[in-house]
Formats: sequence, C-alpha cells, structure tokens
Amino acid sequence: ALGYHKVVKENRNLYNMVQDLKGNIRVYCRIRPIFNAEAKDVVDFIGEDGSLVIVDPSKPHRDGRKVFRFNRVFGPLATQDDLYMDTQPLIRSVMDGYNVCIFAYGQTGSGKTHTMSGISGELTKDMGINYSALNDLFELSNRRKDNITYDIHVQMVEIYNEQVRDLLAEDSAASRYPLKWIILCTSDGGLSLPDATMHSVKSTADVVNLMKLGDMNRVVSSTALNNRSSRSHSVLTVHVQGKDVSGSILRSCLHLVDLAGSERVDKSEVTGERLKEAQYINRSLSCLGDVITALAQKNSHVPYRNSKLTLLLQDSLGGNAKTLMLAHVNPERDSFGESMSTLKFAQRVSTVELGAARLNKETSEVMQLKEQVENLKKALASKE
Ligand code: ADP
Ligand code: MG
Repeated sequence: ALGYHKVVKENRNLYNMVQDLKGNIRVYCRIRPIFNAEAKDVVDFIGEDGSLVIVDPSKPHRDGRKVFRFNRVFGPLATQDDLYMDTQPLIRSVMDGYNVCIFAYGQTGSGKTHTMSGISGELTKDMGINYSALNDLFELSNRRKDNITYDIHVQMVEIYNEQVRDLLAEDSAASRYPLKWIILCTSDGGLSLPDATMHSVKSTADVVNLMKLGDMNRVVSSTALNNRSSRSHSVLTVHVQGKDVSGSILRSCLHLVDLAGSERVDKSEVTGERLKEAQYINRSLSCLGDVITALAQKNSHVPYRNSKLTLLLQDSLGGNAKTLMLAHVNPERDSFGESMSTLKFAQRVSTVELGAARLNKETSEVMQLKEQVENLKKALASKE
C-alpha cells in the first residue's frame, strides 16, 4: 500500500509541475460533507480526473444530470492535507517570484472559511490553507537561507460594502472605520495598501497570533451587523521579498481570499441594509467574473477598476500571476440552485487560458524543475 501511495504522490507532483507550465488559472472544486443525516445529496459522481456529476432533484432522470469538469474535484472525505498537497506547488512558487491569488468561492455554509482558515486559528490537523501556506513559506525561506534572505510581511483587510477595513490595526476601534485609501500602484507595477498596517512575520506562531486578532476584529463588527463575515470579503496578503547573494531582489505577493457568500438574495424579500449589502456583493462578484471573462477573451480593456476587490487583486489576476479558484459546493438538495450557479461560474473561470505566468526572476530550482518536466515529456513522447 505504501508503494502505491508513493506512486500516486509522484504522479501528483508531476501533474502539478505540468500544470505549472500550462495556463495560469486553475479551478478546484470542493464538496462539503453533509452533516444532517436526513439531508439528501445531489452529487452523483466525482472522478479522479476532475469531473463531477450532479443531479437536478426535480429531474432525477437522464436529462437532469449535469457534468462539470475542473482541474480537480475534492469530495466530502477529502482532508485539508489532500487539498493542500495540490496547492503547495503554487504556494512555493511565490518564493520564486510569482504572484499568486487563491480565492474561495461559494454560497454561505459551503466551507470556504474551513478551507482557508480551518478551525479558528488553532494549529490542529485541520488547519487551512492560510496556515499551511505560511508554514511552507517559512520552511522554504529557512532551507534557502544560505543563498537568499527573505522578508515576509502580512496585511489583512476586509472589504464590506465597497469599504476596506484593516483587520490587523492594533487599535481595534480603527478597524471599525473604513480606510481612507485608494489602492496605489507602486513603481514596480505592484499594488499596495499604504494605509493598512503591515506586519513583519518570522514564524507560523506570529501569523497565528495575527490571524486571531484579525478574526476577532471581524467578529467584533459582525455581532453588531449580524454575521457580517459571510457578507464581506476577507483578504490576507503575504508580501515576500527575497535578496540573493548577488544582491538581486525578487518581490512577489500571495493573496488568500475568503469571498463573501455568493448566494443570490431575493430582492423582493430584503430592504434597507440587507438590500444594500446584497447589491454590493452581487456587484463585486460579478465584477470578478467580468475581469476573468475579459482576460479569457484577451480584451485590451480589463475592468479592474469596477470594484475594490478586483482592484486589490489586479496584479494577481492578470497575465503576471497564477490564480487558483476554489469553488465550494454544499451537496444538499436544498442548495441545488446555488450549487449550479457556483459550478457554472467556476466552469466559466476554468476556460480562461493565459500564457505562462511571468516570473520576476528565474531561480535555479525552477529551471531545474522545468528541465526535469521537459525530459519527462520527451520520455513520454518516445514511448507513445
Ligand atoms: P462558509 O465560510 O462558506 O460560510 P464554513 O467554512 O463556515 O462555510 O462551513 C460551514 C460549516 O461546515 C462549519 O461549521 C465548518 O466547520 C463545516 N465544514 C465545512 N467544510 C467542511 C469540511 N470539508 N469538513 C468538515 N467540516 C466542514
Ligand atoms: Mg465563512
């Protein structure tokens, strides 16, 4: 059995390396477990190849079956580690100078926060991508310390009704007020949030503490506004700067985004604050879709400026970056409509094909991996 796992793992690494050289938007789908024993589920098939079949409960015959295909599909039994195994290469490429954006999409309750943060900041086996990612970055930084000196900083903000709040401000009162800023373009073409506090981190423990503070600040405002966290986007940004022995510098950033719930709110049923929120959420998520579509169609104009979210993610969505969408699905029958709209949106995103991501600086490790992949490809071709 051990041998089998080893082969699977090696194949995965190869798969991930090849993915790395293909387009730079990939879509994974994660199906949440069902907790209520009574609930029926609509997912009928999950394939190793990334395919997924769901069944319309009102048409349980052949024409009610819909097939979707993504880069990967993770079923209800998939662990945080399973998911991270296929995310790790992307995270590691941040240390080589790539910009990376990972965003969790799906209706409220579909498992977005579980995937990104895991169990409320505790270092358990269920820790989410945010923690595993930072763990990994520190580990790599340590492993390469003789050749490259890395500086890692984090920021964490929330976008709510098109207003941005700093979740890591020491003075928690400050986080209740929107930042004045507008996102600035830096001289090297990146984007920065000059008004949001920037925290130097040296270990995973530093990060855990900051995330606890961020979650607390989020909770503080959510009690006043009734579970606001599902109606705001939270963005954890990791800034990496590396300086090698020759003195050259590489800069990159990693955005880890827990989006607002994608559910459509019936406009006839809500008024006031709720209606305003729903409109802002619909708008920013549809702006995200518009940006991705414009990129897919290679339009000369990409409408980044239409929302704070797309403006903030600009340099990790364009041709200069690698993007991973994690589409979350609640498989219960009652969620069928929302699941369909999540899957359709995800499918649209997965058709985006861009050139290879731009590397700010090629490290020998990446070169070696690429060479290895080329050799493997040749070996494969000669066998066929
Ligand atoms: P969202 O952030 O999309 O609103 P949550 O991440 O809060 O959803 O998930 C809703 C509930 O389901 C939480 O209690 C969470 O712990 C649980 N949950 C979600 N996904 C999983 C999973 N894959 N395995 C176990 N529990 C999960
Ligand atoms: Mg959540």
